[in-house]
Amino acid sequence: MADNHLPSYTDLLIIGAGPAGLMAACWAAQFDMQTRIIDQKPGRTPTGHADGLQSRTLEILDSFGVVDPILRKSVRHAEMAFWAMNERTGCIERRKRTKSVRGSAVFDQRLLNQGDTEQVFLDYLGGKRGKVEYGTRAIKLMVSEADSERDHPVAVEVVPDRTDGSEIIRARYLIACDGARGWTRNQLEVPVDKNQGQSTWAVFDIVPITDFPDIRQSCAISSGDRGSLMTAPRENRLVRFYIHPKGDKELCNDHSARAEQSQSLEELVKTAESLMAPYSLTYKHCDWFSLYTIRQQLVHQLRPHDRVFLAGDAAHTHSPKAGQGMNVSMQDTYNLVWKLEMVITGAANQSILETYESERRPVADELLQLDGELVGAYEQDDGASKGIENVRDRYSEFISGLGVTYGPDALVADRSAEGRAENIRVGRRLDPFYVINHAEGVSMSLGSRLVSDGSWRLLVFAGDIRDAGRRRRLDSFAQEVRDYPCLAHLVEKRHGTRTGWLLEAILVYAGPRAATELLGLPDLFHPFDDTWGWDYTRVFTDEGPYEPGCRGVYDGYGIDRDTGCVVLCRPDQHVAWVGGLDEVAELESYFSAFMKHTSSD
Ligand SMILES: Cc1cc2nc3c(=O)[nH]c(=O)nc-3n(C[C@H](O)[C@H](O)[C@H](O)COP(=O)(O)OP(=O)(O)OC[C@H]3O[C@@H](n4cnc5c(N)ncnc54)[C@H](O)[C@@H]3O)c2cc1C
Repeated sequence: MADNHLPSYTDLLIIGAGPAGLMAACWAAQFDMQTRIIDQKPGRTPTGHADGLQSRTLEILDSFGVVDPILRKSVRHAEMAFWAMNERTGCIERRKRTKSVRGSAVFDQRLLNQGDTEQVFLDYLGGKRGKVEYGTRAIKLMVSEADSERDHPVAVEVVPDRTDGSEIIRARYLIACDGARGWTRNQLEVPVDKNQGQSTWAVFDIVPITDFPDIRQSCAISSGDRGSLMTAPRENRLVRFYIHPKGDKELCNDHSARAEQSQSLEELVKTAESLMAPYSLTYKHCDWFSLYTIRQQLVHQLRPHDRVFLAGDAAHTHSPKAGQGMNVSMQDTYNLVWKLEMVITGAANQSILETYESERRPVADELLQLDGELVGAYEQDDGASKGIENVRDRYSEFISGLGVTYGPDALVADRSAEGRAENIRVGRRLDPFYVINHAEGVSMSLGSRLVSDGSWRLLVFAGDIRDAGRRRRLDSFAQEVRDYPCLAHLVEKRHGTRTGWLLEAILVYAGPRAATELLGLPDLFHPFDDTWGWDYTRVFTDEGPYEPGCRGVYDGYGIDRDTGCVVLCRPDQHVAWVGGLDEVAELESYFSAFMKHTSSD
């Protein structure tokens, strides 16, 4: 390793600024830690590539406050149409239309080119600390076991395009978001399970001129022996086409296909037209096209070394059929970075990092299972499109990302919400139900209050606190939280290495606003700051009225107004623990198992 310069040091190094790396960088920018993100490309993905943004991904982007530009530019994916060949007429015909998202979501699925999604992250980073170091390639990796290098054991040699020579970056932790070719994975010789089968699909984004009636919907078109076609409506009148003609040797052979790539678009559009017969298809404008080789692969370890994590395509690749590529990649690093921050800043034990593997591996496994079944359904489809629809139905919660459930593990308690909140699942994100802010009278989804700023949230459902018994129970809950050392430490606002709250207590009572005075409630729910005064964002009532179609949280989550309950959400909004207002000791034990708390910070 070249060592002609002194190394530079950072807490976190991210290699790769695709969707996984950019999500990691944005999360890291929330925190008081040093982060660098490098990418060998000269700039962001210009256009094309992945384009499906699932409901959960949009919720996450909303929690960073960056979803609006995406909603403005993207196209809503509301319906999916299934077309198949009528063997008698030799023409395709529509068999069915289905809703694209099922489940309880604030956002439905959206379609937008990957470059515009990356831009949203770049704009966000531009306004905060940190920028992507484009044109910087990692060429050598060493992870030292030496005691003298224990603090920054990861050493990466990088070559910036703009200067001669190289730089050594020493990092405490490395997140490899370096894509399907997996530079870091190869350096560490991490074994990869590969599915033997691989196929090459043509993908192009054009403004189609066609008489096909469902061109502004997502379609799965099965053209019998000729092959299959998928379409998706996109921004600016574009439509994404994926084609996989059966028996097209050139297309199925990656190498010859790539050699022909520059001349093949005209022919690919003609092939697509033949798969859509009797409809016509021509174009004048093409935004992007590519031949995309699909390999199903999954690494053996998502954390091949204590200090190195693999995320996104570097860890798993699959076909684009379920629109998962960008989504699962971003969700990998969304799961990881807040945990790394807690370890790097000394708030938590290293042991919590094991949950990256235990939480994201089942997701990667299910992703590959879904993909295998979907690819099989497309290839064996008998024309009735039943196979594809069945697979999409069975995996609908997984595809939208809303059904991902973690644990039990060190960060997800091994307890059920049964008997307390029938419709909450420990380990899963909360469905969107509504509350009214006590001070402002404004209604909002409770989930949207759980912004991604690194705080844990303790949601206290105290029932109707006009009742003296319930009010006493709430007061004693708040007092106990202040009395237990770990909890007391967590609910104090901190300054210095980590600003803000580690744990924000939020009260949701049931009953009329007029009967409750904010400042009469325990100050846990309206902390005071010399400069900023009282916090008015922590007390809510369940008492509507709400917009049509919106339900209050007590009914929505199935919480009994007498018993009430406490729901703890992690910084990534997944429910970590559910218990009663009288179970503060259990809550203390939950945190004490992994927090490095001290009574003074
Ligand atoms: C040609 C192509 C077409 C695709 N088409 C589709 C599609 O149609 N639909 C779909 O769903 N998905 C598609 N994908 C996949 C989709 O883009 C990925 O699933 C998604 O981008 C994964 O994000 P990521 O951040 O994990 O990896 P990537 O987006 O691949 O980002 C990895 C980054 O790491 C950088 N990098 C790699 N090695 C180094 C190194 N040594 N030093 C510095 N930087 C490095 C790369 O330059 C790259 O920017 C396509 C991918 C490709 C390559």
